[in-house]
Amino acid sequence: MMGSIVLFGPPGAGKGTQAEIIVEMTGKPQISTGDMLRSAVSQGTELGLEAREYMEAGKLVPDQVIIGLIKDRLSESDASNGVLFDGFPRTIPQAEALSEITEVSAVISIAVPDEDIVNRIVGRRMDPETGEIYHVSFKPPPPELSNRLVQRKDDNEETVRMRLAAYHNQTKPLGDWYGNMGILSTVDGTGTIQEVSQSVANAVRNL
Ligand code: ADP
Ligand code: ADP
Repeated sequence: MMGSIVLFGPPGAGKGTQAEIIVEMTGKPQISTGDMLRSAVSQGTELGLEAREYMEAGKLVPDQVIIGLIKDRLSESDASNGVLFDGFPRTIPQAEALSEITEVSAVISIAVPDEDIVNRIVGRRMDPETGEIYHVSFKPPPPELSNRLVQRKDDNEETVRMRLAAYHNQTKPLGDWYGNMGILSTVDGTGTIQEVSQSVANAVRNL
């Protein structure tokens, strides 16, 4: 498939976790706007300084900032046969801007109810050296890594409630928008990580 794939879902649905199998199956590079923004924040760039306050408040970063970031990234040579977007687009204006730059062939939505999200988010830990995502209960990290794992500043209960509100108000309507275009496949995201990977792999095979 030549076009790009969008991985869609609420915060903590498992997008980053499941991106790996899609990258393996399709060879498309993963583009995570969240990772790009966090890297800009830690480098202290102008973009990072602007994005930081929104991220820490659990609000979406303004569309124009995100669209600029994506335009730059898609101009790199590895993006020419389509990419896997993780956490982008998150609003209808972002999706409209994207449609003018590149073709979205498929959207895979990972469905997880709100009541499961808070536990997933507050237990999330990341290995800054490899980018691997763990969970204190659902994907326990090897003990020898425990002293280097980090917790995201926005992965606390208060901020996740704001992020869920932003998801319901600004992002969920985009799922319906892609549904109306006939390119949305929804997978049940509530099983174990392995079970969800099976469903994601089936969805990719059926594209
Ligand atoms: P997202 O990228 O959608 O925000 P992540 O992939 O980072 O989500 O997953 C959020 C947290 O939930 C991580 O700690 C991850 O290990 C955990 N997780 C992911 N998928 C599952 C699952 N199917 N069951 C339980 N925990 C999961
Ligand atoms: P998660 O899926 O766990 O919520 P992300 O890493 O995708 O986390 O995003 C973290 C934060 O970065 C978001 O809460 C938001 O502030 C910002 N962000 C990431 N992607 C976008 C986007 N496409 N549009 C607007 N803000 C974004």
